[in-house]
Amino acid sequence: MQFKDLGLDNRLLKNLMHYDFKTPTEIQQQAIPYSMLGKDLLASSKTGSGKTLAFLLPMLHKSLKSKAFSARDPRGVILVPTRELAKQVYSELRTMLAGFSYTATLISGGENFNDQVKALRRYPRFIVATPGRLADHLDHRSLFLDGLETLVLDEADRMLDLGFAPQLRRIHRAAKHRRRQTLCFSATLDHDQVNDIASEMLNAPKSISVGTSNSVDKDITQRFYLCDHLDHKEALLDRILEQEDYRQVIIFTATRNDTERLTDKLNERKLKAIALSGNLTQTQRNTIMSQFERAVFKILVTTDVASRGLDISNVTHVINFDMPKHTEEYVHRVGRTGRAGNTGDAISFVGPKDWESLKRVERYLQQEMSFSVLEGLQGKFKGIKPAKKPVSKTQAGHAGAQKAKPKKVTKKPVKRDKSFYNNVDVGDNVFIPKKKKAPVIDDDNE
Ligand code: ADP
Ligand code: MG
Repeated sequence: MQFKDLGLDNRLLKNLMHYDFKTPTEIQQQAIPYSMLGKDLLASSKTGSGKTLAFLLPMLHKSLKSKAFSARDPRGVILVPTRELAKQVYSELRTMLAGFSYTATLISGGENFNDQVKALRRYPRFIVATPGRLADHLDHRSLFLDGLETLVLDEADRMLDLGFAPQLRRIHRAAKHRRRQTLCFSATLDHDQVNDIASEMLNAPKSISVGTSNSVDKDITQRFYLCDHLDHKEALLDRILEQEDYRQVIIFTATRNDTERLTDKLNERKLKAIALSGNLTQTQRNTIMSQFERAVFKILVTTDVASRGLDISNVTHVINFDMPKHTEEYVHRVGRTGRAGNTGDAISFVGPKDWESLKRVERYLQQEMSFSVLEGLQGKFKGIKPAKKPVSKTQAGHAGAQKAKPKKVTKKPVKRDKSFYNNVDVGDNVFIPKKKKAPVIDDDNE
């Protein structure tokens, strides 16, 4: 099947030629024709599978083929969890709008509110927004959504994990009329809050699930190294950055403090690193992302603020300097490499405090991992054996195991603890000296 077989407006097909791809991805093949009918959709597919076009194309097609409900209200609103993702989706939207008289605007947190009010007064036809700021504008009456035709929730599970349910409901109420179409995309449908929101906001939706969200793309090679302590992690990182043939790297740390500390260390060694964390101003965040996209910097050191959605094709390596606290973020982090058919390397450091996280990732991916070793950098830590039911050496797959034995493990639903919603998270604090303030993890904050 090719894009031209989907029955999309020719002008959209022409704009699609800006990209080089001809064949829609599986989620696109399934979601686009169905959404073009104007029906509600609840869809999940793994990261990097082309969900953005899966909602942009039907939304724009529908607008081209029908008269607007209102001359002033936006026709389409796309909600995303983070500001960086909002910018990226906005730029993809602009590409698809080339040659049309349609206007679009980006409404995300951290930017000047009054400038946004002015932009909204020009009645943009399409809006990409983070939910917090869009809800503020509704309260401020700088926009109305009575004429909204398509509402898209992108990365719905993440928006809900970040505590955006009240803002999503606020937006839903402002646009509550029979003819609104709602497209909800989530990395997983196995999420209570997503199902609750879907039952409130979607009207008899069709569920489409392509592949599983709990799998890592086959083009991404995963490697794990056991580590004793922080110095050991740093030595491994040095060696890896020396040896690997990388174009750009994203390094994930547990906390903002670690992000900055590590960036300084890398820069001392002239490795062109830059730190991105949620405590920066939006202007700083934008500058950093755009510099990284233009490859002014080769290494981005960040927290889970950048784990979702970002699509930078030069990223050949993702390094988990600390394992993520929330299991599914592992899949999203490593999904920042291997974009659009490229291959990628995902390297994770597993110290004593990362061990539990690794075990959860193994259960989530239903895969038992083996460890690699770098010459001269083998540590003492060999993993933590379960306290009650010790398993034999061969089953344990601890350090030194050469082959990963795929082993089916029953998947447990992931439960968030309350600290996650409050954006307070201690993460991997094994290396933080006692008495220091609890480190702040970076979930997005708008
Ligand atoms: P997701 O939202 O599912 O993580 P994206 O929409 O960000 O994925 O798309 C991931 C990458 O795949 C982007 O670089 C995008 O341009 C590219 N892409 C999208 N659709 C296709 C396609 N049909 N064929 C090839 N590449 C595609
Ligand atoms: Mg996406």
